[in-house]
Amino acid sequence: MKRLIATFVLIVLVGCVQVAVAAISKGLELPSKERVAEYLWTHASGGPWQSGPNYSFTHPPGLVRFAVPPSVRLAAGMSKRERAIAMHAIALVNRALPYEHHVLLGPDAPAGVAWDWKGGLPDIPDGQIFIEFVKGNPNSDRPGSSAVSHQAIIRKYDALQGRWEKKHLRASAVEMSSVVFRGRPDWQAVSVLVHELLHGLGFAGHPGKDFADSIMENAWFRLDGSLPDIDIDALQVLYTKLSEDTEPEELSALDLGAWNDESTDITGVLGPVSFGVRHANNVSVPFTSGPEPSKPLAESGLSKTRVVTWRGELLGLTPKLRTVAGTATVSVALFTMCGTAKFANLRSFPVLSEPTRRGGVRWGDGTLDYDIRVGSNYLYSTGGDAGAVSGSFYGRNHGYVGGTVERLDLTAAFGARR
Ligand SMILES: [Zn+2]
Repeated sequence: MKRLIATFVLIVLVGCVQVAVAAISKGLELPSKERVAEYLWTHASGGPWQSGPNYSFTHPPGLVRFAVPPSVRLAAGMSKRERAIAMHAIALVNRALPYEHHVLLGPDAPAGVAWDWKGGLPDIPDGQIFIEFVKGNPNSDRPGSSAVSHQAIIRKYDALQGRWEKKHLRASAVEMSSVVFRGRPDWQAVSVLVHELLHGLGFAGHPGKDFADSIMENAWFRLDGSLPDIDIDALQVLYTKLSEDTEPEELSALDLGAWNDESTDITGVLGPVSFGVRHANNVSVPFTSGPEPSKPLAESGLSKTRVVTWRGELLGLTPKLRTVAGTATVSVALFTMCGTAKFANLRSFPVLSEPTRRGGVRWGDGTLDYDIRVGSNYLYSTGGDAGAVSGSFYGRNHGYVGGTVERLDLTAAFGARR
């Protein structure tokens, strides 16, 4: 794919003062097909995988995934902060996947269902992943774990190869220590939960020191508004190119088919926040990035009686790669931590062309409206138009917000300033 490099200018009105903010879209180099195949092979190999210096674990060989997108269910009793952290971890995983492969959010689940993890999670129905913040220690053989993932996997004996193999991923559970993560920054809980969720989706192991950039090798670095490229690409291959079960011998670069080594991006910049959509290998991945605030929004010092509003821009791609641009307005009532995310003046432009301030043709009816809820520094949609909105507040004094809008007909990201 040809690298697209383009620059355009967004004009943001702040009071009566016009401030010009440059936005650039450019192609980025992505992991090679060989590297992604190697990464997938490590998960299919059966291990042994290291988990810290003094513990290793093994499985039978085989790489398995859910046959259809699973439902994720949050255990009843989560705090508002834990729920927002879980919703953000789910959102980061979904940003990596095409909309039709997104994991779904199911109704809340009863607590304590992972107790029989050695017996195959009998209380978790087929095709579901339960996430729970547990009061005591997570159920695990490994002493001192602050988080674990368990998978219920059907195995079969392959007489020809003389080995047991993984054949079917039935259900998963993720347990996080409520006590441990209560005292940690939000981003640590999000990063660890994403790691466990990816175990639950089929990445069985830790891929080793050659993959230090993967959240599966190191769960303790800050994930901002997207997964690392290696995890994005491998997750897309697992859920869009491979079958439900794959043997390690079937995981070479040749098995991965056509491949883009670089992406075409549409990117906006607003103050310290970047936002946009990365397109490669036929998948559009929305992203945001920016500095994490030091306190939750509820403790920002902004008056609790206020409705606070952030205004900015949305940029996106349609499934046919027309570009879409419009305005973004996020409002939060600090006394309820509920609010709205509204997108207006939405216009579409020719395939991979730069949006301009004027011009384009109206996209849909020109607007998208969502109800949102905020926990700590994360927002997620609870109703409104079709699709899902997720985001995080950024910067000193929560001066900025960045987020994504994902629907069948649009993959977009937005940045806005208070
Ligand atoms: Zn792990």
